[in-house]
Amino acid sequence: MKEYDIISIGGGSGGIATMNRAGEHGAKAAVIEENLLGGTCVNKGCVPKKIMWYGAQIAEAIHQYGPYYGFTSENHQFDFKTLRKNREAYIDRARSSYDGSFKRNGVELIEGRARFVDKQTVEVNGELIRAKHIVIATGAHAHIPDIPGAELGGTSDDVFAWENLPTSVAILGAGYIAVELAGVLHSLGVKTNLFVRKNRPLRNFDTYLVDGLVEEMEKTGLPLQTHKVPVKLEKINNDTIRIDFEDGSSHTAETVIWATGRKPNVQGLNLDLAGVTLNKQGFIAVDEYQNTAVPGIYALGDVTGEKELTPVAIKAGRILAERLFNGKTGAKMDYTTIPTVVFSHPAIGTVGLTEDEAIARYGKDNIKIYTSSFASMYSAVTSHRQLAKFKLITAGLEEKVVGLHGLGYGVDEMIQGFAVAIKMGATKEDFDATVAIHPTGSEEFVTMR
Ligand SMILES: Cc1cc2nc3c(=O)[nH]c(=O)nc-3n(C[C@H](O)[C@H](O)[C@H](O)COP(=O)(O)OP(=O)(O)OC[C@H]3O[C@@H](n4cnc5c(N)ncnc54)[C@H](O)[C@@H]3O)c2cc1C
Repeated sequence: MKEYDIISIGGGSGGIATMNRAGEHGAKAAVIEENLLGGTCVNKGCVPKKIMWYGAQIAEAIHQYGPYYGFTSENHQFDFKTLRKNREAYIDRARSSYDGSFKRNGVELIEGRARFVDKQTVEVNGELIRAKHIVIATGAHAHIPDIPGAELGGTSDDVFAWENLPTSVAILGAGYIAVELAGVLHSLGVKTNLFVRKNRPLRNFDTYLVDGLVEEMEKTGLPLQTHKVPVKLEKINNDTIRIDFEDGSSHTAETVIWATGRKPNVQGLNLDLAGVTLNKQGFIAVDEYQNTAVPGIYALGDVTGEKELTPVAIKAGRILAERLFNGKTGAKMDYTTIPTVVFSHPAIGTVGLTEDEAIARYGKDNIKIYTSSFASMYSAVTSHRQLAKFKLITAGLEEKVVGLHGLGYGVDEMIQGFAVAIKMGATKEDFDATVAIHPTGSEEFVTMR
């Protein structure tokens, strides 16, 4: 039987980071992966999505903005196969970098599907593997609702496997993945419709920004249909699917994509043989130290349902390895004030509390809101004015900044630095004392009154 200090079931963002850090501290570590190393983010998430988003930005620059800057081009053709080829080549290179880090840190890769045999043992390809510490980092998969014909629709995984773009697509879902896919496909020339079950997409984001994004969607001709609950999908002919909605309406498209949330990958792990338990939502239940109900078994990343983002899985994994193998016994992940970006058109960047959350926490009378709305300078010389909307939320007499939200050109690259300031407890006075960088969009955050 093979024996290790620590193993990870899953070689995605969380599993790889944990094992590398454990290996760095001298632990005998192994990653078990049944599919492509790198997991969701590298193979069918953040990375292919961001490259498609860059492609979409280029399309917008050529078609909407370029002519106003004096650029005209005879050849406006877009070859998706070129984008796809270069995207996949980049992903291959990203994946191959894991070999180097595994070698440096002495991490072994075991290829195959793992399932528990007992608290300290898993089985992979008929072989038993024992470890003092076992990390469950198996990620999540797209949820497809249980309605007739649902299987006719694909998921984001299918989008990144497409050889060709469809002529039309209906995206069903209101989260960031739905919004991002809709924006990218629309900008790349696919006739796109976005359908959400309630009154708006991105319901966990600050309404001020989401209202701005919806306005931009309308301006650029990306139809958003609200209060649309799908009840049935049916194939009309070889290249048309009809979606029937609860309100009696229907819509046809060549392709339908479900982006209606993600479910943890826990099936077939034999968690019961180890005694690992799930929470009410079906994710693996962990405490603030990533401990499951069983000593020596931990879970992190998407399988725990806690802020399902790559850097969160990575940080939680590194902190766990520091705790287990570098004497940092009290180390634990701080799940508050996590900055994030939605790669919409334009992008949304956010850190800290939304206005509703700030009111709930501090009371309406104890918070102060600063907003700014303008056309981005990039678009201001064109007739495609693109909205930028910024918002600061402060709390208490000292006006501690507890929420910072932006929608607009370049916002995706703006938020990280502000996140540091907010994590350090910056106040509005600190923001005001900072000299602006002119002319930029980010200067709004330090000049709001
Ligand atoms: C379309 C899309 C876009 C996204 N964009 C972003 C973004 O822009 N920014 C961001 O921060 N996050 C983004 N995410 C989320 C991000 O991809 C995840 O939060 C991240 O990958 C979670 O890492 P993880 O290690 O928990 O799981 P994963 O990366 O999913 O890795 C889990 C791995 O476990 C393997 N596995 C599962 N079961 C077993 C088993 N029994 N045995 C062996 N191996 C197993 C799987 O094959 C997989 O490789 C996006 C996700 C999607 C779907």
